[in-house]
Amino acid sequence: MLAQSDLTRYFKIIQNKIPGQLIIQMTDHCNALCPQCGMRKTADFQRSILEVDKIKRYIDKAAENGVEAISFTGGEPMLFFKQLVELIDHAAKAGIEYIRTGTNGYMLRYGKSEDEFQSRVRRVVDALAKTKLRNFWISIDSADPKTHEEMRGFDGLIKGIEKVVPMFHEAGLYPSANLGINRNLGGPRTMAIFQEPGQQDDQYLERFHDEFCAGFDRFYRFVKDMGFTTVNMCYPMSVGTGNDELASVYTATSIDKVVNFSRQERVQLFNALLQVVPQYRSELRIFTPLASLYALKKQYQEGKDLGYGCRGGVDFFFVDSKDGKTYPCGFRGDENLGDYDQLDMSTVDRNDTCNKCDWECFRDPSFLFGPFLEGIRTPISLFRKLKKEPLFFDLWRCDLAYYQACELFSGRKAPDYGKLQNFLRERPSILN
Ligand code: SF4
Ligand code: SF4
Repeated sequence: MLAQSDLTRYFKIIQNKIPGQLIIQMTDHCNALCPQCGMRKTADFQRSILEVDKIKRYIDKAAENGVEAISFTGGEPMLFFKQLVELIDHAAKAGIEYIRTGTNGYMLRYGKSEDEFQSRVRRVVDALAKTKLRNFWISIDSADPKTHEEMRGFDGLIKGIEKVVPMFHEAGLYPSANLGINRNLGGPRTMAIFQEPGQQDDQYLERFHDEFCAGFDRFYRFVKDMGFTTVNMCYPMSVGTGNDELASVYTATSIDKVVNFSRQERVQLFNALLQVVPQYRSELRIFTPLASLYALKKQYQEGKDLGYGCRGGVDFFFVDSKDGKTYPCGFRGDENLGDYDQLDMSTVDRNDTCNKCDWECFRDPSFLFGPFLEGIRTPISLFRKLKKEPLFFDLWRCDLAYYQACELFSGRKAPDYGKLQNFLRERPSILN
């Protein structure tokens, strides 16, 4: 029998809607030094924080609009920990099921003494575990501890996180490791192969691919050994380097070469992930859908989009901390939609999808829901696509089964390794 939430989703899909998502940038204050981000503490701009009451009004409106997922992002949201907990509680009371937030880990770093560390992190663990927060991400930039800590600008991060992950598990919260893909992800070795465009030799892309396969492999092993059960990959965002159509309001982007990849490099990146992700699906819960990787690779390789555009500005929205206004996403900053609680959802053009960037928060769920929307609304077009793109649909079916085995990545449950065993360390035969 179908659960009420399945029925609600089914009716949404008939109306060309998918479960809504609102990303609220609470603040752009940050205390880290990440070269891959325009909000690093040394970046010189006027910092802001949104009023708690305004965010609460937006949450209430989002619940009224049927939004199912809310993320509180930054900057570093944990700089305003009390407000963050209050907002998580407010979202839970409003009936939002998928509540997410994350950290650069500064509150979890190992400090002067064991006692000081224990009392500090205990407070954080207990306060978050008491809420209805569903997913909590901790950023990790590299499989090499020194590289990660240098990028973030904090000592003791890896030691502290290793110690705190089991404490979170004991309290019933399973944090995910969040990797923003960058050239240091496998440690200095991965960066060492970099050659400037124009100076690349014939074997460069092959080396790049192999080194990133090794880097992702190292990364997954590293976070698993740290105790994480769940991992997410943020595809590189280097808005402002050739993608002139975008005007970013969410400045978690950078032109630094550490996150700036050419089209050909992106093809190899997505290819490397397609190789490595399946090898870890039985050991870790990995959000990254293979269907997305395949579609993005194809988009960069052949300049062809599969027709499952991003639902940013349709079902997904972003609220910017600077002006408190709503945007289709963090990267279409010239489309100010005003206050979220004044947004008239009936005026949204539900067919106006986009493929101008790779922001996984919006693109991954768009690829996963795309075939459902198409099947219900234009089944002939889906049927044609099934024949033309069998690989995409095989991967998509595999993703749906995997997402189910991961219970939609509930950060409130331990993984069911019995179910994940069905995805044993092997590449799906379809990728051979
Ligand atoms: S990536 Fe996150 S932690 Fe790093 S500077 Fe940007 S907002 Fe701060
Ligand atoms: S693809 Fe999505 S996230 Fe990227 S610019 Fe378009 S709407 Fe925004």
